[in-house]
Amino acid sequence: MDEHRKVAIFDGHNDAVQHIGEYREGGRDFLARSDDGHLDLPRAREGGMVGGLFAMFAKPERPPERDFTRTADGYEVRLAEPLDPPYARNTIRAQLDALNRVVERGAGQLRWARSVDEIDAGVRDGAFVMVLHMEGAEAIRPDLGNLEELYAGGLRSLGPVWSRPNIFGHGVPFAYPRSPDIGPGLTAAGKELVRACNRLGIMIDVSHLNERGFWDVAALTNVPIVATHACAHAVCASTRNLTDRQLDAVRESNGVVGFNLSVCDVRPDAHLDADTPLDVVTDHICYLVERLGEDHVALGSDFDGAVMPRPVQDASCLPRLIEALRARGFGETTVRKFALQNWLRVFRATWR
Ligand SMILES: [Zn+2]
Repeated sequence: MDEHRKVAIFDGHNDAVQHIGEYREGGRDFLARSDDGHLDLPRAREGGMVGGLFAMFAKPERPPERDFTRTADGYEVRLAEPLDPPYARNTIRAQLDALNRVVERGAGQLRWARSVDEIDAGVRDGAFVMVLHMEGAEAIRPDLGNLEELYAGGLRSLGPVWSRPNIFGHGVPFAYPRSPDIGPGLTAAGKELVRACNRLGIMIDVSHLNERGFWDVAALTNVPIVATHACAHAVCASTRNLTDRQLDAVRESNGVVGFNLSVCDVRPDAHLDADTPLDVVTDHICYLVERLGEDHVALGSDFDGAVMPRPVQDASCLPRLIEALRARGFGETTVRKFALQNWLRVFRATWR
């Protein structure tokens, strides 16, 4: 790849913490190039990735694949059990410690960013910038007593639910083909959480909410609506994807959708098949750009958290995606918005 054609990319979602040696015995070294998984510092550099939202996430005790049922035209996954809050708090603490140790070991190559100025400074200095995200709010106390502490620890983005219920709301069960309008939305505590995040300047992520939860957030929030990792329901009718009406609400709020590379949400047939051509990926991105406009689509890869299309099988392949978008007629201004600028705009509007 011609270095001049590379663009700076900020990614809206990864699950790298689940796989690093600081968190898991036998895990990978984030600072060394691996052929396993999708994301480490050398592969990020090769791909032009300058940073991303790093998710902390407490996995369900029973993996979703065990509750997977194939249907005549797709699949259904039974909604995961609620998580024990003390277990969630311990897990989140261990993941933040692990990420902090990687940053320390990186000796300046990696940096936390808590503001857009810190992202800009990091990119300028050639450091890889990490923004802290939490996927599912189980670790947050019902009275929100530890939310400010998490904010002080760097938290700038929060998904109230993963695809399971908690005291704040009801996640959307994984299913295809099916509407995301399944079950009730945010609880009273969930609405308080959205207000508190607005006050503090923590971005709310609508990914994994069901449709009612989405509209609850949309009605309450005073900042742009953001899905860090999602695609279009009109292209792939999975419950994790956003309907055209939801996309319209994101656009009207000046928000952004981070395009999720997970094959089951990208492919119109939702097959869990890495053998997914780049055209299928770019067709889907083109749909989102047509519906939302170029100011409202970015990248939210889900690296290290989902099955990737083979042509973009890890972070080092991102220039191939950018080239494919250019081949589809995206000009350099649009490419740069998709790669980085749209994220910076919503961060600036959200973080106080
Ligand atoms: Zn997710």
